[in-house]
Amino acid sequence: MKAMVMHEPGTALVLEDLELDQPGPGEVRVRIEAAGVCHSDAHYLSGGLTARTPIVLGHEGAGIVEQIGDGVTSFAPGDKVVLMWRPRCGECEFCLSGTPAQCALGKVHGQTNGLLRGGTRLSRDGVEYHHLMGASCFAEQVVVSQESLIAIDADIPSEIAAIAGCAVITGMGTVLNRMPDLTGKSIAIIGAGGVGLSAVIAAQLVGAAQIIVSDVVASRLEKAVELGATHTIDSSSEDFTERVLEITGGGAHYVLEAIGRPATVRAGFEALRSGGTLVVVGLGTAGEELSIPINPLVQGDRRVVGALYGSSNTPVQLPEILRLYQAGRLPLDRLLDRTFRLDEANEAFDHLRTGAVGRSILVP
Ligand SMILES: [Zn+2]
Ligand SMILES: [Zn+2]
Repeated sequence: MKAMVMHEPGTALVLEDLELDQPGPGEVRVRIEAAGVCHSDAHYLSGGLTARTPIVLGHEGAGIVEQIGDGVTSFAPGDKVVLMWRPRCGECEFCLSGTPAQCALGKVHGQTNGLLRGGTRLSRDGVEYHHLMGASCFAEQVVVSQESLIAIDADIPSEIAAIAGCAVITGMGTVLNRMPDLTGKSIAIIGAGGVGLSAVIAAQLVGAAQIIVSDVVASRLEKAVELGATHTIDSSSEDFTERVLEITGGGAHYVLEAIGRPATVRAGFEALRSGGTLVVVGLGTAGEELSIPINPLVQGDRRVVGALYGSSNTPVQLPEILRLYQAGRLPLDRLLDRTFRLDEANEAFDHLRTGAVGRSILVP
């Protein structure tokens, strides 16, 4: 089974032939049909986020179930599935209250880079290889825990299913769940990558009056306009906060920060109108801190919140989003950028770093 392996941060991924164990109890073997190339993987590649190595990266993927382990009843061979990078137990306080991304199971993958039931299912010549986020889908096949899967309609194209499991549910979910009264109001989105552009699609869907998007790459801003942005800000030459205050006449009702840098989070806070909410979606480098002036926070009745995985009830909302796509109401196809072969993953990351628009896809 071929997979792209990271041996050390800062080095290129290497195509290797790995041994993949049979799925154990509660586990499923999936043949990967498409995997998205996401900034989170790039953070592991650069060392900004750390993981045990050697490791197979990739956390937004979709494919076909090939084999199930003992006790698996929700999936059968032939099912099309989306890999979710946050598994859910279905029984805890968070799962039952619709925020499964906060389920304690989600922490296991970060702590062990193995699967939920212990150990990894990847090896080569007796050396243990690890799984990124329990998904490790830069590979021809994966063995994953059943808690990491959602079954979807077989008609959904796999590349759409793959991006739905990360960028789309994060961007759309943040708008739908954290900005429930956005209709007729204003939103400013910082960062027009896959998440930011998905947020544009959701803001357009719910009828935001002003959809302002900022980025430093002109082609991303053009894509944002194509998807429904009403205003763009080229933050390489324009002041984000000033422009938002000007466009909205006093600040945006909502700001979504999809980069995770202290300076852009701060700029987002300063672009809020009174009563406005800043939702931070971008993950920072570990240990990074944010400084916010206290008085404008209090006197302006402003809110600053985080949202993981779009604060989504993933097993309910992912199928909902895909139904809207099937009904022709979501232009998710326009989020797709280039397609690379699995062994071209390094080129795909170069492309991501040098201005990819939307999401590139790896196919085996
Ligand atoms: Zn991702
Ligand atoms: Zn749970």
